[in-house]
Amino acid sequence: MSNVKTNSRLSHRVQQIKPSGIRRFFDLASKMDNIISLGVGEPDFVTPWNVREASISSLERGFTAYSANAGIIELRREISSYMTKRFSVQYDPESEILVTVGASEAIDIGMRAILNEGDEVIIVEPSFVSYVPLVQMAGGVPISVGTNNEDNFKVSAKQIEAAITDRTKALMLCFPNNPTGATMNREEMLEIALLAEKHDLLVFSDEIYAELSYDECHVSFASLPNMKERTILISGFSKSFAMTGWRLGFVLAPEDLLAAMLKLHQYSLMCAPTMAQYGALEALKSGMDDLERMKQSYKQRRNYVVKSFKEIGLSCHMPGGAFYAFPSIEKTGLTSEQFAEKLLLEERVAVVPGHVFGAGGEGHIRCSYATSMDNLEQSVERMERLLKKIT
Ligand code: PLP
Repeated sequence: MSNVKTNSRLSHRVQQIKPSGIRRFFDLASKMDNIISLGVGEPDFVTPWNVREASISSLERGFTAYSANAGIIELRREISSYMTKRFSVQYDPESEILVTVGASEAIDIGMRAILNEGDEVIIVEPSFVSYVPLVQMAGGVPISVGTNNEDNFKVSAKQIEAAITDRTKALMLCFPNNPTGATMNREEMLEIALLAEKHDLLVFSDEIYAELSYDECHVSFASLPNMKERTILISGFSKSFAMTGWRLGFVLAPEDLLAAMLKLHQYSLMCAPTMAQYGALEALKSGMDDLERMKQSYKQRRNYVVKSFKEIGLSCHMPGGAFYAFPSIEKTGLTSEQFAEKLLLEERVAVVPGHVFGAGGEGHIRCSYATSMDNLEQSVERMERLLKKIT
């Protein structure tokens, strides 16, 4: 708090939080015409029709009341069998599953459920921009562990161990990763599991991009030996089923942790929107073909952008999942902020400067390829033109 100018009307915790670095770019871009945006982290598909129809039907049938705090039991049962089928994890729908308002809420209540003032949470970065503020808002202290291009943005147990202190309470992992698209295989995850056991850490595993793993099957952290008891598994419908606006996610955790999160959820949110829960139920029951169709389309676009970035001279690791490429712009000599600003103002392409995602992000830009091939082709052309001007 020392170098923060304080306002006595506001909480110290809120004042400690920096405004999102992504927002500044969206605000700039929103005032300009003919922008191609590779900035937003959401699918370019509309939610499949059968999902929308199921939600509409729930309204027609008059299901407009609060649901159970933890979510409608049919949805929790379906989440349970879906997670077992797809990721080999077993959770009891009655006591270990909570339907949340997006994965975002799950991260928030997870942090608030476990942290005491001053507890440290190791965050593997570059990372989703919410983790640091949500740790801080829960009274915790975020400890950054950076990854890098040379290691394909994977993290090792050794790197994590170096950051552990006697205040470390939890570790935050996200694979496939936003913003790097990095994935970790079973062996790599196993090393981290051993470390979690050795140091008695809780592990947040944000697996919201699990279904968008292109080259290898996703390994759920909770499926590793002895890990279920110490894992808070976060997921949701936003990315895999193209449902960002529905605000529906879920969290899976051992009963004691889940009961604590349920307390927070019940007093602040009551329940996730009922009509959205009926849509999500349908997505799990009949949406797997649509999911596969969208996944194949992202994969094709991933292959195109990574190849094209390399052709125009930007080094770019092959992201194994999610829908982001994270090329290096280091050779331009500009910071990621300067490069992104130039690209926006001179070539009208919006990307997100890598530094906003924390350690390891500087020198890179995040490009979401969840947009049309036409937009991607034009963006590559425009980037090439800018690179020719400045290198
Ligand atoms: N976790 C990660 C890694 C994300 O990238 C995002 C959204 O961008 C979220 C969580 C939030 O997802 P939701 O829409 O379910 O709140």
